Amino acid sequence: MDLELLRRTLADAGEPTFRARQVWAWAARGAGSYHAMTDLPAALRARLADAVAFSTLTLADEAHAKDGTVKSLFHTADGRAVEAVLMRYRDGRRSLCLSSQSGCPLTCTFCATGAMKFGRNLTASEILDQALHFRRIEEVDHAVFMGMGEPMMNLDNVLAACARLPDVGITHRRTAISTVGWIPGIDRLARCEMPIRLALSLHAADTALRSQIMPVNDRYPLADVLAACVRFHEAKRRPVFVEYVMLAGVNDRYEQAVALAELLDPKVFKVNLIPYNPTGSYDGSGPDAIDAFRAVLEEQGLRATVRLTRGRDIAAACGQLAAARA
Ligand code: SF4
Repeated sequence: MDLELLRRTLADAGEPTFRARQVWAWAARGAGSYHAMTDLPAALRARLADAVAFSTLTLADEAHAKDGTVKSLFHTADGRAVEAVLMRYRDGRRSLCLSSQSGCPLTCTFCATGAMKFGRNLTASEILDQALHFRRIEEVDHAVFMGMGEPMMNLDNVLAACARLPDVGITHRRTAISTVGWIPGIDRLARCEMPIRLALSLHAADTALRSQIMPVNDRYPLADVLAACVRFHEAKRRPVFVEYVMLAGVNDRYEQAVALAELLDPKVFKVNLIPYNPTGSYDGSGPDAIDAFRAVLEEQGLRATVRLTRGRDIAAACGQLAAARA
């Protein structure tokens, strides 16, 4: 829902200012249409249905995995592709993976989104509408900005969306922004009042390899990025989660685990090893290689977990559904 258009439409209709909050409260609780908003006058509901599209996104495709993961491909009003994922966990968590851009201008070589043409930054409403889509299916409680795009390149809109996520059921402490190391954004998040988590996509401790698989490393070198993460930790007193996607024969060797452990201060960083959803360019490391890598990190005193894989059977890595439809 375009919340600015909603505000203007209500103002033009001479409605009191609380109406916008009333409409938003319904939407945030999962209402399926304006007509469900029963404490709004019927004439106003009809006017809104004519003037303000209930969502800024149109569902173009949806895939359901055996493990309960739902992946949705949307189109914006100007035809841009946007993906978002609902992950269901056995402990009851319902976590959303949200996109901040259509496509991505950065070109990480392991990423399906990076191979797509960059569209544009998403508006705050387009980001929120991803969450509202899933909220209409069921209650949700976690969100990660780990879908299409680099969130720190669109931080105004990402933070504007984050400010409203608690209304949808997702507190700031259960919201994480993942970056490839966009330093101005990390520093801004450190100053932000909302206690949002920070995750860093690191993927290689060796700077030459990191530049090869993540060209952004040339612009923001790893040492400077880690220093920014330490500043974040000092400001927020919260751990920084390091995402490390496991690529067979590329970044999963013993000495690479040792180098990673030497690089990261265990008081600041926790590592999350990510089994790779193959998108064509690389093979993912097998479970034994991932366990061995994790064991080396733990031996060196670094806390490390292996992410549960979700949605393997529906190509749930970011950009895969849009690429398949392109
Ligand atoms: S991993 Fe993230 S930053 Fe890199 S290309 Fe993909 S979407 Fe962009």
